[in-house]
Amino acid sequence: MAGGNAIRGTRVGAGPMGESERGESAPRRRVSYWCANGHEVRPSFALDAEEPETWDCPRCGLPAGKDQESPPDPPRNEPYKTHLAYVKERRSDADGEAILAEALAKLRAQRGDTAS
Ligand SMILES: [Zn+2]
Repeated sequence: MAGGNAIRGTRVGAGPMGESERGESAPRRRVSYWCANGHEVRPSFALDAEEPETWDCPRCGLPAGKDQESPPDPPRNEPYKTHLAYVKERRSDADGEAILAEALAKLRAQRGDTAS
């Protein structure tokens, strides 16, 4: 605890980080987007660039909007791509289910869950 303020004091202002920030060539601004899953994305844009209405969430791939209260709806009926992806997923689902069942069995064993 003691000395915490002193460490803070040396960091602020006198660091090389502050200098590098000043040396940025193009000024940028950050815009916050929120997806339907509540993820916040903060891409940065050049000051004179126009930010898009939506931004793809890098975590779940859903479109994210600038209004946190009402993020854009996840796309529902997507064309062929999604269907193909779905078919592919079903293949690996068999493996996934086996792994999941194994994991569940382990979990139950750890919990001592005797009810079945
Ligand atoms: Zn997301």
